[in-house]
Amino acid sequence: MKRYKAYCFDLDGTVYRGDEGIASAIAFIQKLQQEGIEPFYITNNATKTPEQVQQKLAALGIAAPLQHIYTSALVTATYVEQHFRQMKVQVIGSDGIRVALAEKGIHITNDEDASAVVMGLDREINYAKLASACLAIQNGAKLIGTNGDMKFPTEQGFVPANGSFVHLVATVTETEPLFIGKPSPIMLEAIAQAHHYSKNEMVMIGDNYQTDILCGIRFGCDTIHVNTGVTSTAQVQVQQEQPTCCLSSMAEWA
Ligand SMILES: [Mg+2]
Repeated sequence: MKRYKAYCFDLDGTVYRGDEGIASAIAFIQKLQQEGIEPFYITNNATKTPEQVQQKLAALGIAAPLQHIYTSALVTATYVEQHFRQMKVQVIGSDGIRVALAEKGIHITNDEDASAVVMGLDREINYAKLASACLAIQNGAKLIGTNGDMKFPTEQGFVPANGSFVHLVATVTETEPLFIGKPSPIMLEAIAQAHHYSKNEMVMIGDNYQTDILCGIRFGCDTIHVNTGVTSTAQVQVQQEQPTCCLSSMAEWA
């Protein structure tokens, strides 16, 4: 099996399911660390701060350095910092995105003269917030979603994820949103840039074809699909663009 310098792991469905760790992935990560390779963790979940992700991984037996945890919230904040001179944004979202923006010195406003509207999952979303976002965009603000996931599974069935609300605002304002999270390659680009890796030194590992695998393919690095989450191996095999490798779990990676 090829050796990489940067193993980039998706989290939900790849390293854990809910609060339960996926043993094969955890063992693989610990083995890499024993060999002196520190993996990266990439999540579309914008509700948690990197510190909260670090705590969750620690509870599963993984010691992860903060600089190796990339949330869509963190990368969105970096994007806003780099692309908007006047850093005044409206936010619909929770802790993860609010803290990330504040740490970059970005001013969060309710005014409709914001230069961007940043949307991450907000479990307290309401009509007033959505209306205000729509008005800001009609005044020239750019619409940015931390991630475009439309739904996520719960024990009872699917519930709305961030993308559903971003598409609502996009429909009203007739604009095209920019999504930072996977399958956009922006998060892998951020890792390559910050840590000086070339694409052939990196691999993206994940359970979701539409986000993780397409993210790696669009970025241009190798990809490993694991059959431990959203997309089954059978569903991957009918796709036109195939991952580099399909595994039932990381235990198969000899
Ligand atoms: Mg996943």
